Amino acid sequence: MKKNTRVFKFGGASLKDAQAIRHVGSILQDYAGESLLIVVSAIGKTTNALEKVAEAHARQNGMAQGLLDDIKAAHYLVMDALFPAGHGVYALVNDTFVEIEWVLEEEPHPNYDYMYDQIVSVGEVLSSHIVCAWLQQIGLPTQWLDARDIIRTDDMFREGWVQWDETVENAGRVVKPMLEAGGFVLTQGFIGSTSENFTTTLGREGSDYTAAIFSFCVDAASMTIWKDVPGVLTADPRLFENVLKLDRLSYKEAIEMTYYGARVIHPKTIKPLQNKSIPLYVKSFIEPSGAGTCISDEADDRYPPIVAVERGQALLSISTRDFSFVAEHHLSYLFQMIAEMRLQINMMQNSAISFNVCVNYIDDRVDRFAEKIKDQFKVIVERDLELYTIRHYHEDVLENLRRGKLMLLEERSSGNVQMVVKDMPLMVRRAQPLPGSKD
Ligand code: ADP
Ligand code: ASP
Ligand code: MG
Repeated sequence: MKKNTRVFKFGGASLKDAQAIRHVGSILQDYAGESLLIVVSAIGKTTNALEKVAEAHARQNGMAQGLLDDIKAAHYLVMDALFPAGHGVYALVNDTFVEIEWVLEEEPHPNYDYMYDQIVSVGEVLSSHIVCAWLQQIGLPTQWLDARDIIRTDDMFREGWVQWDETVENAGRVVKPMLEAGGFVLTQGFIGSTSENFTTTLGREGSDYTAAIFSFCVDAASMTIWKDVPGVLTADPRLFENVLKLDRLSYKEAIEMTYYGARVIHPKTIKPLQNKSIPLYVKSFIEPSGAGTCISDEADDRYPPIVAVERGQALLSISTRDFSFVAEHHLSYLFQMIAEMRLQINMMQNSAISFNVCVNYIDDRVDRFAEKIKDQFKVIVERDLELYTIRHYHEDVLENLRRGKLMLLEERSSGNVQMVVKDMPLMVRRAQPLPGSKD
């Protein structure tokens, strides 16, 4: 495989409309002639819109086709701004929509997750055809690659697990000759397929992970994800002011902060890169000449406080019904149930008679779990919580974050703090008591 291949990933925000796609084209002009594998997400918020189509189809509420028509119109608007009438890309996009219309004409498949993947995966197929055609039009030879021919997963729909041996073999057989032929190769993020050729998705926001899988398979020299931020920052700028850009990060630091909610990179992205020491650059598509953040082995471990916030958390307080200790056999049973329900544990603590666990509140999984164990255990579920993870904390940062929050669970270990919190309006003494109060 060409040693100097670089892998680039462009997310939905960088492809949100025709102008954004033109801009991506202009960034890529600087790499003309290089060995480049490009991974693209769906345009803008298409995946959210497709989720609504899948939901409507499952409910048979008569809205699915209308919702799909809106997505179609948005894609035609982008194409009309980029391509002359009759361009070949129209037929490719049209065929992709027709496939979904066939799905919508049939009864909803009993396996919701399977049906979801067949519908939601088209976002990336559409965007990849459009971006590929645009690059060809501006004189950048680009070959379109179907990621489903390369990325093999198990049949856990909506959360496909990569089958690495087959994936590496497919990439060696198909992607290697494509890269050797020269020009760019462009493919879809987020999607793969089972051994029976059914489309799967890798989990929401999974395009970063796709780029890492390809980087691993082609022994990339580096991988770059192009974002709407200057690099990895000390916290999400949408939630916090006065954040700093981190110039360098270790893989370990990156994996810890993304696992606990730093949404800038999908947490699964780091491992394949770390395994082959492939540096990951996070750069701004708005300011492409900026240095961004480099994530690699070569970073020291001195960092400023870094804050990650995971929303949509639930705290389960589980206790024995008869006041007996929460012993090993209880824990073993509880963990087995947690694994069966595919709950993701973010924090836990146990005492003599109780076990507290903070998990992502996903659909009805938490309630089904509580229902399942209720004969043996008393369970209290508290929803709508946030999990703060503060790495390399200073007391004053903690002080600031705690303001207006009720702390439900806290844990400190070697410079890091995690806390599960709930909004609590700050009480302020009235300047004048209300009439009727005794003093
Ligand atoms: P993509 O277009 O690739 O899907 P995302 O929207 O998923 O991009 O990710 C970029 C966003 O991640 C930023 O706009 C920012 O709000 C958010 N973000 C969360 N945590 C951080 C962080 N620590 N540093 C930078 N950005 C962050
Ligand atoms: N389009 C998919 C999503 O929005 C994958 C991605 O963008 O990373 O979840
Ligand atoms: Mg994203």
